[in-house]
Amino acid sequence: METIDCAVIGAGVVGLAIARNLAISGREVVILEAEDAFGTHTSARNSEVIHAGIYYASGSLKARLCVPGRKALYQYCAEHDVNHRRIGKVIVACDDSEVAGLKKYKAQAEANGVDDLRMLTPAELAEMEPAVRCVAGFLSPSTGIIDSHGLMLSYLGEAEDHGAMLALSSPVLGGRVLSNGSDGIVLDVGGAEPMTVKCRTVVISAGLKAPDVARGIQGIPAATIPPTYYAIGHYYTLTTKSPFNRLIYPVARPDWLGVHVTIDLGGRVKFGPDFEWIDRVDYQFDERREASFYKAIRHYFPGLQDGTLQPGYTGIRPRITGPGEPVQDFTFHGESEHGIKGLIALYGIESPGLTSSLAIADYVAERLDQG
Ligand SMILES: Cc1cc2nc3c(=O)[nH]c(=O)nc-3n(C[C@H](O)[C@H](O)[C@H](O)COP(=O)(O)OP(=O)(O)OC[C@H]3O[C@@H](n4cnc5c(N)ncnc54)[C@H](O)[C@@H]3O)c2cc1C
Repeated sequence: METIDCAVIGAGVVGLAIARNLAISGREVVILEAEDAFGTHTSARNSEVIHAGIYYASGSLKARLCVPGRKALYQYCAEHDVNHRRIGKVIVACDDSEVAGLKKYKAQAEANGVDDLRMLTPAELAEMEPAVRCVAGFLSPSTGIIDSHGLMLSYLGEAEDHGAMLALSSPVLGGRVLSNGSDGIVLDVGGAEPMTVKCRTVVISAGLKAPDVARGIQGIPAATIPPTYYAIGHYYTLTTKSPFNRLIYPVARPDWLGVHVTIDLGGRVKFGPDFEWIDRVDYQFDERREASFYKAIRHYFPGLQDGTLQPGYTGIRPRITGPGEPVQDFTFHGESEHGIKGLIALYGIESPGLTSSLAIADYVAERLDQG
């Protein structure tokens, strides 16, 4: 049986960031990816926004990893020529009933260390975003947009420069933990040439499938593995020129940010994502949602013309808490959670996982060093 130092399961933006970090620190890394290309799931089906860190509960891992992750990401993009733009975002209250929500965000953001938000006067709002109907708003200047594929390519390139290897079409089908990890963890890998590898360290970064991968590895206590829930989000694109200068977010709902405006690096406007629980990974676009998008968007953009929305794409949130339950935090299980040496499992890495990817990688590396 082949023995390797470290296997990272999953080549999305988070798995690649972790592989890069571990390879740079001198570890032998193999990235096992089920698909025949990297980054084809959530990392390719998101809003591509560099989040400032506004919404997350104080002290949560989302808050603690988003703010430093965002700063590190801007620096990384500048140093490695990853296409991005610090475009800024305006969060708006469309009527008086939403103003309290806006103030709550500002206080939460400040508690999270986001110190550059600025309330805008009605005159400023009208000048900056004339197409938007609102009664109040604030500007988040450090929100940006990024080419997520370019970012993943850069992480992978650096990881490979430091000796990491990406094994595509290599799904982890199962495995077993030997002596609580002291003798390693064995992984059964499928694909054209199935193999069994023994690893000193395993990082489960399999996104939507992370709990399933963990359940397939004998020796991980079942009680520590969270349940799997999926919540799909649709994006519609605008067929006309952008009427917006920045990203526009309405006051959010309890469990997601609402149908908001993002602009990609090519200048195309996208609206979304919406939110619906589903029971399996199926990216099919449900075109019956069109009417609800027109309604939600016209709440803040009354000038939206009939016939100007076209179906874009969908993404699926990897949730570990279900309908009616509080939204999960990022969840990392290391030895202190499951009792296994050399194993870290990442669960529920939804937004702001892209923004936080470098900080998540630092955090995982630290947890592995702690044993
Ligand atoms: C709708 C939506 C919008 C979002 N918008 C933003 C945003 O604007 N900004 C932001 O910061 N974050 C955003 N996010 C969050 C961000 O996209 C994710 O946190 C991030 O992409 C997660 O990366 P990942 O590597 O954990 O998962 P993934 O990209 O899903 O990668 C997991 C990989 O594991 C592989 N895999 C699965 N099972 C196996 C197996 N058995 N063996 C081997 N490989 C396996 C998969 O094929 C996949 O390549 C958004 C998420 C969603 C759903």
